[in-house]
Amino acid sequence: MSSSRRTEVAQLARRLADAHPQQVLEEAFQHFEQVAISFSGAEDVVLVDMAAQLGIPFRAFSLDTGRLHPETYRYLDTVREHYGFDLEFAFPDAAEVESLVNAKGLSSFLADGHKECCQARKVAPLKRKLAGLDAWITGQRRDQSVGTRGEVAVVELDAAFSTETRPLVKFNPLAAWSSAAVWDYIRANDVPYNPLHARGFISIGCEPCTRAVLPNQHEREGRWWWETAADKECGLHAANLRVVND
Ligand code: SF4
Repeated sequence: MSSSRRTEVAQLARRLADAHPQQVLEEAFQHFEQVAISFSGAEDVVLVDMAAQLGIPFRAFSLDTGRLHPETYRYLDTVREHYGFDLEFAFPDAAEVESLVNAKGLSSFLADGHKECCQARKVAPLKRKLAGLDAWITGQRRDQSVGTRGEVAVVELDAAFSTETRPLVKFNPLAAWSSAAVWDYIRANDVPYNPLHARGFISIGCEPCTRAVLPNQHEREGRWWWETAADKECGLHAANLRVVND
């Protein structure tokens, strides 16, 4: 990877470290031609809303793992229609999922841990999607997991998906925002939200691996609750969490 790209990203990271998320989005769209928001169907809808408010064309994509809640599928269409844009989808490779399910059944993650299933249903399709981008934008926040996301930077070189010849920049505009700030924004701007949030879900992923949490329970306790906290990354972000921006 060229040192000029590293320098460029380091400068961007320093300049945007304390910037408002909408400014980060705007600069991401200005600096990169092939850039898209990764939209999970949860609170990261604020990024879609902020991008729409900028009034410039933008791209967003979701991963359809095949195991999302029915509410999330309906919600993804709600967002698409509300903002009037073509939400893109990335799907797992059918043969890969078929092979896993035929060998281990539909719920192998309960016995073997979630990483194998996440690799087939999330990481592989994401990798294919990112191969066509120069930069991507996520809703990751530091307060989502003190254990694994406490060092999320606003701008970083993607340590998981960059290659020597194709550096990938990752923007996390909401890195410094709290959950309360996100919900203040959603309410103040009448942003449509996933109805699962009204039923106690905070972090929303696949249906078999997500459950509602009780008051004062951390949101990540609703994900892969049969595993230890240190294992609760699906591979989409895990390798980025210790990246230094210079
Ligand atoms: S979250 Fe669960 S169902 Fe979804 S890809 Fe990962 S292990 Fe599979």
